[in-house]
Amino acid sequence: SSMSEAARTYSLEGQSAIIDKFRALLAASESNQADWKKHAVSLLEKAIAEAGRDGRKPTFSFGEEDSDEASSESAEMQPTAEPLTEESHPVVAEVRPTLDRTVEELENDYKKGLKLRAGDYLRLVNVGKVKSRELEALMPDFETAVAVRRAAVDPLNKLADLPYTNYPYTIAKDACIENPIGYITVPVGIAGPLKINGGVPLQVPMATTEGALVASTNRGCAAIMRSGGVKTVVTAEGMTRAPVVKFSSASDANRLKQWVQAPENFAKLKAEFDGTSRFAKLLSPPEVVLDGRYAHIRFTSKSGDAMGMNMISKATHQAMKFMQSAFPTMKVLALSGNTCCDKKPAAINWIKGRGRSVLAECWLPESVVKSVLKTTPAAMAECARSKFDSGSAAAGAIGGSNAHAANIVAAIFIATGQDLAQVISSSMCSTRMEVEEDGSLYISVTMNCVECGTVGGGTVLPAQRSMLEFLSVAGPSPSFCDPGTHANNLAQIIAATVLAGELSLMAALCTDDLVSSHLKLNRSRLNLYETSAEAGSSSNSLQPTVLLQRPQQGMIRGKSAERTIKVNCSSIL
Ligand code: ADP
Repeated sequence: SSMSEAARTYSLEGQSAIIDKFRALLAASESNQADWKKHAVSLLEKAIAEAGRDGRKPTFSFGEEDSDEASSESAEMQPTAEPLTEESHPVVAEVRPTLDRTVEELENDYKKGLKLRAGDYLRLVNVGKVKSRELEALMPDFETAVAVRRAAVDPLNKLADLPYTNYPYTIAKDACIENPIGYITVPVGIAGPLKINGGVPLQVPMATTEGALVASTNRGCAAIMRSGGVKTVVTAEGMTRAPVVKFSSASDANRLKQWVQAPENFAKLKAEFDGTSRFAKLLSPPEVVLDGRYAHIRFTSKSGDAMGMNMISKATHQAMKFMQSAFPTMKVLALSGNTCCDKKPAAINWIKGRGRSVLAECWLPESVVKSVLKTTPAAMAECARSKFDSGSAAAGAIGGSNAHAANIVAAIFIATGQDLAQVISSSMCSTRMEVEEDGSLYISVTMNCVECGTVGGGTVLPAQRSMLEFLSVAGPSPSFCDPGTHANNLAQIIAATVLAGELSLMAALCTDDLVSSHLKLNRSRLNLYETSAEAGSSSNSLQPTVLLQRPQQGMIRGKSAERTIKVNCSSIL
């Protein structure tokens, strides 16, 4: 019975590969009567493990021979390369279902509140007696809970390359993630030094998988450094939340619009709003946009160093309770009514601002434009006019008259634990370039809705927090500064880095280097997706084949690295 149960826990139905393996192993085995149960169990485990390994192979692989060939070839090329062993990649979910007790016995113990083994919990999850989301509450350490969850969702071990060990799940839980099964890694590069407002030059961490992006931004930083640095300023600060309410008539809705303007009403509303957090500060009477009987009430508030969505939502909720008492017939339909506007493209954010509104500007001498950016201020300004003015207008862009602000915003957002969906508004940016009378290039970037924070959200995770520490903006601002100084500084670092990115990409467009540098830096030269036609000739090819396998260590450093084209950073975008 433990056999058939093991089969159930692994959802054998449809997994004919495992059954076939098991049959083959059984046929080849020499078991005697006495130990057949034990023997059968070990054969089943072996069958599952083997089928799991097979499951990781791409369906268009060319079989054992081919992969042997590839590995022997690379070993030959790189004698110092260590063979790929389980030990060097200890990311296999080790939890296996226990087989020595019945599910009923396990369930009884579980109901009695007794501690079970990881493999017992796996079986109970597999039969639906324990919910996957409860695992952390049951396991002594969260990593084991994660391993059990992985084993439950992935019996064939297709997640082997998704790391899950050594992660601060205790910090991430109930703040950043539910049902964790591991973490995605994104490489972090560094661009800089970047001098902002005459301060100590910064190195800016950027997390990205777009090759050429960091190198490009780095070149922009070099141009800025040689021009004396970038100036930045925060022009406004205010996170928004906008509920939608309904009245029985449009004129009733208009009464609310007038009501919030009266100073005594605003004072009371503000007291309710601000009372919910020491950092919430309602800045002005909320703006009321009417649409027939609907009223959209846009609250704008300071949020200290938090990005502020939780904080301002809580404050808005409280303010709406008070408003409800003043307007008993008002029906609150949604706390977020889409004029906020969070995580959706909307002109209102661009026009009125959201989060931190920030500007960065720089004057680059003609000599710097020529030596670092390989072009001229006049060419840059002309390219900017055609692209930002004409092109963005023709495209009907809103907040999109820039070259690639979103690239830099996304990379810094990932590195520093920001809410990634907010790249939508946070990357809205107007880039201007003009030639000054002395022949230098003036550039500005205007970013009206940088939604960032240095407390809360993903900023609590150690890796992300270390990026903020590195930039000297981690956590709450010190008491001798205004609350929000850290988050404002982060917004300025983002804008300054965007300016660097704009300079470099615009120069690459002027010199027509965009395609060549991307082909150099943004295309893997490891052949990851070989076609079958190419594969047929691969045994004669000098280049080793990597068919969705982990590239072996030696392949990156070894001879095959010779195929990586040397890149001269001054000539790339
Ligand atoms: P968000 O609103 O960005 O989602 P949270 O409201 O979840 O962030 O996190 C902010 C929390 O951190 C609040 O409880 C707030 O009181 C606390 N906090 C501590 N120091 C600060 C600070 N300097 N600025 C803003 N919030 C702070």
